[in-house]
This record gives sequence, C-alpha cells and structure tokens, in this order.
Amino acid sequence: MLSNRIINMKPSMTVNLTDKLEALKREGIDIIRLNIGEPDFQTPANISKAAKVAVDNDFTKYTQVAGCIELREAICRKFELDNNIKYHTDEIIVTTGAKQALNNALLTLCNKGDEVIVLTPCWVSYIEMVKLTGAKPVLVDLDGNEGFKLDIEIIEKVICDKTKAILINTPNNPTGAVYNKKELLNLGKLAIEHDFYIISDEIYEKFIYGDNKHISIASLSEDIKKRVITISGFSKTYAMTGWRLGYAGGTKAIIKAMANLQGHMTSGANSIAQKAGVEALLGSQDSVEKMINEYKCRRKYLLDRLRNINEIRCMDSKGAFYLMPDISKIYGRKYRGKTLINSIDIADFLLEEAHVAIVPGIAFEAPNNIRIAYCNSLENIKEGMNRIEKSLTKLD
Ligand code: PMP
Ligand code: GLU
Repeated sequence: MLSNRIINMKPSMTVNLTDKLEALKREGIDIIRLNIGEPDFQTPANISKAAKVAVDNDFTKYTQVAGCIELREAICRKFELDNNIKYHTDEIIVTTGAKQALNNALLTLCNKGDEVIVLTPCWVSYIEMVKLTGAKPVLVDLDGNEGFKLDIEIIEKVICDKTKAILINTPNNPTGAVYNKKELLNLGKLAIEHDFYIISDEIYEKFIYGDNKHISIASLSEDIKKRVITISGFSKTYAMTGWRLGYAGGTKAIIKAMANLQGHMTSGANSIAQKAGVEALLGSQDSVEKMINEYKCRRKYLLDRLRNINEIRCMDSKGAFYLMPDISKIYGRKYRGKTLINSIDIADFLLEEAHVAIVPGIAFEAPNNIRIAYCNSLENIKEGMNRIEKSLTKLD
C-alpha cells in the first residue's frame, strides 16, 4: 500500500504529458509541443564546454552539500548585480533545480497544520509541494481582469495565526504577471506585521517584456529580506533544464537548515553541472540576450494570432514565456459527438485533431484557460497556430 502522502498527490500535468507525447512520437505522430516550459535553445556552448572541462579535470565527486564555493560566490555576485540583494556565501544553497530549492524551503519552514498562501493561477507543483510538508495550501484567486496583479487586500483576508508563508512567483508561470515595487513592498510589510515568510520564486526573472522591470522582494529592505527565501535557477535563463541546477538565498539559519535537509536528500547538486553554472553566471551573457529577443518576437506573433481567433480571448503578458488564453467560449461545442466541457477536453481535442500539445488551465487552477508555451521555434508556433485554427472549424 502506498503512503497517504503519495495517494493524495496529483501527478504533475506539465511533466507527465511528455510520456504521452513520446509514445505518440514512437507511433509516428508529429505533435507540435507548446506544452512544456522548456527552452528549445541549446545550452550555450561556453557553458557546455565548462562541464566538459570539469569532467576532464575529474571534478566528479561530491561537493559541499550547499554547493561548491566558486558557484556560491558567483551566485552572490549575480544577486548583487542583477537583483540588488547582498547575500554571503553561507546564505546561498545550490540545489537540484529550483524545484529542489522550493521543496527544501517548504520542508524547512512548515509544520503539519501550518498554512501556506498560494496565489492562483499558479504553477502546477506549488500546491503539491505544500501538501507534502503536511501544511495546508490556502488558495487566493487573483483577478484576471486586473492582470492577476498582487492584490494585497485579498491576501490580507486569509492571513491568520497559522499562516507560515506565502509563495510568490514573479514573472509568473502561467499568467505572465510581473509584480511591481509597490505591491511587493506592501506584501513585505504584511509579512513583517503578521510574522510570516515569503518564498519568492524568480526563475523567470530575465523574461520581461515592455517597460516592466523585475524586482526582487528581498532587495526592498533589510527587515523584509530576513523573511524572504529568494529562489532562481539555470533551467530557463540558460536553457539548462536537464542539468538540474537551481539555488536559493536566505538567512544563514534557514539556508543551513535547508542544507541539513539536502544532506540527507541528495547530498547536493551535480558537481559537473555546478562548474557549468559558474561559467553561465560569470561568462558572456550574449546568448541570453539573443534568446530573450527571440522570445519577444514569438510572444508578439503568438498573441496576434490568438487575438485573431473569435473563440479565444487572450490577455497580453508581461513576463515568462507563456500565454494563457481564455477558451471558455468553446465550452458546450461538440467534437465527434462529444461535448467539450472543460480545459482538459479542449487540450485532448487539440492533441487529437490538431496534433498540438498545450496544458489545460485546470493544471494551474485556471479552469477557463489553456496555457501555451512559446519556448518553441517561430516556425513551430506558426504551424501550431495554423493547426489550431483549422481544428476549430471541425467543431459543431
Ligand atoms: N518554478 C517555476 C515557476 C517553474 O515554472 C519551474 C519549471 N521549470 C520551476 C520552478 C522549476 O525549475 P527547475 O527545477 O527546472 O529549475
Ligand atoms: N516549469 C515548466 C512548466 O511549467 C516545466 C515543467 C515543470 O517543471 O512543471 O511547464
């Protein structure tokens, strides 16, 4: 018999779809993948080369649990230059992807019975990660008509003695919202007043469009910083999803506790990936800039195409690499005699008829939407949109 912990856990709808798509590929079915948030770019060559050098130099043993000092120094430098946060190396932990940093942080802070505020729509893993700790996820629904902005008034309403932390994600997956300084400052004040932590997932920090700016909440004051665990990683910025490298910054006490946990869980991140991470942070950033310019073109193209479809309503996004169109107008229509009633039906229909994979909004607590990831080539996005448009003509 499996544990209740696992029985009560919903599998990840973003990563699990990959198995289904691989099976379809083996059957010879060509699917356009606009589902997973995984950059299609290759990891920049200078970064891969640093890993090869690490192997040749036998940098292939356990590192310090919190990460090799060289990488932690590079992360401190990055936090100071990019995010205006001063962390010391003993306030940094290197992890197996940002996922591990988030799990470490939640397991380190939460007891059974605690509450963690999760703003919805949210990334698939947040709710399950909170549940794994025994704490209760308290969902606060942000208003799409307001651009899913960080609404302090509604957050304040759910704060109680049990509130241990809030999880925020800016730029946001899946909504693309980017929180501004005033909103973040107000959240910081609330955390001080009610004595809770802020886990700030900033993995999409480089993907910002228009005049928006990424603000790290830990940069706003020393008092706020004490309550924040800042999380980021290499997967998105440097197209390094498979390297499994992320990190967190926080107070020395919390980071040490996270490292104690990690000492039992994984012993730390992959040593070769860590050397690659040093090069990613200290080497040329030209390839990052190129990738971001490409995302800008893709975003604009995709938004224009979506806005030309009657059945779809799509808001602009400020960051990350997703659009989250409202497809609820299609609910009630029929495909091959079956009425499409929810976002899972729409995702199944698009996979079957258009051979395009997207993620149903329900995975993110956004039941009227689907999420389209534009971290695929412009050519594939064009083909995907042609197929989606054509497939909609097949509905009764
Ligand atoms: N946070 C968010 C919001 C994400 O979308 C993802 C998905 N990659 C992660 C964290 C985890 O990233 P990774 O573990 O690949 O660093
Ligand atoms: N975060 C990405 C996504 O939302 C990658 C998959 C995952 O880790 O959930 O698609």
